[in-house]
Amino acid sequence: PATLGVLGGGQLGRMFVHAAQALGYETVVLDPDRASPAGRIAHHFIQADYRDANALRELAARAHAITTEFENVPAEALAELARTRAVAPPATCVAIAQDRIREKAHFARCAAASGVAPAPHAVIESEADLAAVPGALLPGILKSARLGYDGKGQARVATRAELAAAWRQMGGVACVLEQLLPLALECSVIVARGADGSVVSLPVQRNLHRGGILAVTEVFEQNLPTALVQQAQAATKNIVNELGYVGVLCVEYFVLQDGRLVVNEMAPRPHNSGHYTVDACDLSQFDLQVRTLAGLPLPAPRQHSAAIMLNLLGELWFDAAGAPRQPPWAPVLALPGARLHLYGKAQARPGRKMGHLTVIGPDAASVRQQALRAAALLGIEAW
Ligand code: ATP
Ligand code: MG
Ligand code: MG
Repeated sequence: PATLGVLGGGQLGRMFVHAAQALGYETVVLDPDRASPAGRIAHHFIQADYRDANALRELAARAHAITTEFENVPAEALAELARTRAVAPPATCVAIAQDRIREKAHFARCAAASGVAPAPHAVIESEADLAAVPGALLPGILKSARLGYDGKGQARVATRAELAAAWRQMGGVACVLEQLLPLALECSVIVARGADGSVVSLPVQRNLHRGGILAVTEVFEQNLPTALVQQAQAATKNIVNELGYVGVLCVEYFVLQDGRLVVNEMAPRPHNSGHYTVDACDLSQFDLQVRTLAGLPLPAPRQHSAAIMLNLLGELWFDAAGAPRQPPWAPVLALPGARLHLYGKAQARPGRKMGHLTVIGPDAASVRQQALRAAALLGIEAW
């Protein structure tokens, strides 16, 4: 195909466009926001709602193959496009990933083979479900089944009374209550699966979240015990194969204090925790997305540098008194191995993902030293 299309114009779409353009593809982006990060750099931009039938027809007319970068793109829009065009990931897989109830059911099915189960949980869709919740799930986290991200649509609840209040506060929508688990650390695995069923995996990323948002990702030898790395990669391959998925998929895991691996959730697209691959691997997660979409070969990606990624959130664009500022880029860019990526968003808001900084280097100790320097310069808390 000569033109690749993307539903969604956020930063993930922007980095997909970079990778597609590097291979000589034309790109077309559909997004409601005229100033979207991907829309402003694609060859063609269609400004429309994701459900706009005319806009979807125009996208299909311009693009030979279409992907998505946005987790909550209507699965029906993908299904509609798939009637006339190659679409990856498949609408059926996206629909499962968009619904925590179906997602957890898929993980529970896969657990028989992989030994990696989701957190103990219960589905809450009615007052009767609420009353039937086993006490062992408390304290827990109530999560809306749909549309949550960056910890939004979630409430920590310690008692039945808090649970009932939180569920009503969420408007009584379909939810999952998960047991609050004693986490030692969090990690994620990105895999790419081609239409021919071949699967390649990226290294296991170790992730630090703050306030429900990814803050730091570290990827280097020995960032995790070898046995855990193998178990997480095998479980992720099993999940993607059982879905019959095509494209790039990320699975998030918890490692519990007793060493057990628990599967949290999946994203049917490249993932924030995989941004380091642009600078530290010979094939990035966006290169893999292009290749799976265009039916190109999928050799195993290789990480050539140790890497630490720092998310650059909107609060860095304000000083202590709350006045707008530019973060001090010059001293950060002077650090060896520092690679700055900004998404071209005009408006900074606290918690908004404005860019990321990847520090690459020969080994864990040197990237850690430079990443901590960068954090100190930017006002990001050390970890
Ligand atoms: P994302 O932006 O990654 O899609 P999300 O809003 O879908 O996030 P989750 O990944 O479900 O939310 O949870 C956000 C964070 O909350 C997790 O990364 C983890 O730090 C914490 N968390 C979630 N579920 C649990 C749990 N059952 N026990 C302990 N901590 C949890
Ligand atoms: Mg999520
Ligand atoms: Mg998550």
